[in-house]
Amino acid sequence: MSIDYTKNSRENARINAKILMSLRDAVIIGAGPAGLACALEFQKNEADAVVVEKDCLTSTVYRFPDQMRFFSSASGLEIGDFRMHAEGNQPTRGEAIRYYREVVSQARLDIRQRETVLSIDGVPGNFHLRTSRGTVRARQVVVATGYYGSPNLLGVPGESLPKVAHYYRDAHPYFGSDVVVIGGRNSAGIVAVELADAGARVTLVHRGDRFGMKPAIRAALEARIASQQIQVLMRSRVTAIHQFFVAVDTPRGEREIANDFVFAMTGYHADFEFLTRNGIPLSPCGDRPIYDPETLESGRPGVYFAGAVMAGVYTHEIAIESSRHHGAKIMAGISSKSKLGEMCGAAAPDPRLDAALG
Ligand SMILES: Cc1cc2nc3c(=O)[nH]c(=O)nc-3n(C[C@H](O)[C@H](O)[C@H](O)COP(=O)(O)OP(=O)(O)OC[C@H]3O[C@@H](n4cnc5c(N)ncnc54)[C@H](O)[C@@H]3O)c2cc1C
Repeated sequence: MSIDYTKNSRENARINAKILMSLRDAVIIGAGPAGLACALEFQKNEADAVVVEKDCLTSTVYRFPDQMRFFSSASGLEIGDFRMHAEGNQPTRGEAIRYYREVVSQARLDIRQRETVLSIDGVPGNFHLRTSRGTVRARQVVVATGYYGSPNLLGVPGESLPKVAHYYRDAHPYFGSDVVVIGGRNSAGIVAVELADAGARVTLVHRGDRFGMKPAIRAALEARIASQQIQVLMRSRVTAIHQFFVAVDTPRGEREIANDFVFAMTGYHADFEFLTRNGIPLSPCGDRPIYDPETLESGRPGVYFAGAVMAGVYTHEIAIESSRHHGAKIMAGISSKSKLGEMCGAAAPDPRLDAALG
């Protein structure tokens, strides 16, 4: 491709932009803690990486409950060589997002926010990713997309009503309201307790016959159940959500419960649709993506995983603490295949790139 000076300047600018669109060493999809840790690792190894993020920096942590404290200590959330300062033993959500902002600023990481990766085309050494803003080219791809964008749906009528939420921020708006919380794990316990303490009338609906919560959360919940601040329906399922009530199937038969809001704290899963659409294979059961545990390379050569996305539906398996070293594994894997010098060398042009660029 070359610039044709018989064409107008706008057209030439377009062609010039195509020529100049650089081939990066790596594109990292997702600016969560795992994606950022990877970017730092690439930077340490003098590889040129760009992070493409569909929302804002560390959007998952940003969307956590306002009053939340991590169970990890500050040192457990640190990435790269950057120290985190927190007032207490367990950092707050606010302290964490401030820390990740400072890391990005100090390390001068290249982050493109509000840009969604739509597809991954090409081959190792020459991938081209179509995004909501254009195309990014890179030799390697790291998928660090987490799971928080894909809640486990109930699959019941009424789930799409605006009063139904899969995310919780703060209890205040629910004062004096009838709220159903669905779930039996930590998130459901925390949400039920916070809502009850803020004066909501809470019914907790759980399909199991016991709670799977940390002892402190469970104790707080049980204290409010004992004082009848929270009603509980065990071995029960919400079967339909209506504007002013929800239908619940209980061991004693179908019940209708007055209701203003529903919090379905039923967990999340990796975006399997995005993975399969881009030729990244899943396990035979389809419950998690497959990858090489040594290098974190996915079943699609040249595409690597970092962070919680790897857990598939088992989201509790991978935390920030356990994923912040994924970048080092990926880097070692890439280096073992080809020396970094080769990785950064010129790639053969992919004819599909021009087609993708239109
Ligand atoms: C309530 C709660 C408390 C937790 N407490 C702790 C704790 O104390 N300690 C701990 O270690 N872990 C904790 N975790 C787990 C931790 O938050 C996650 O493991 C961590 O956020 C995962 O990081 P990640 O970078 O893999 O994914 P995420 O942080 O989810 O980042 C993924 C990013 O990818 C972006 N993205 C997705 N798809 C695309 C696309 N197509 N194009 C561009 N961008 C895309 C998303 O917008 C998102 O910003 C907690 C989780 C929850 C829910």
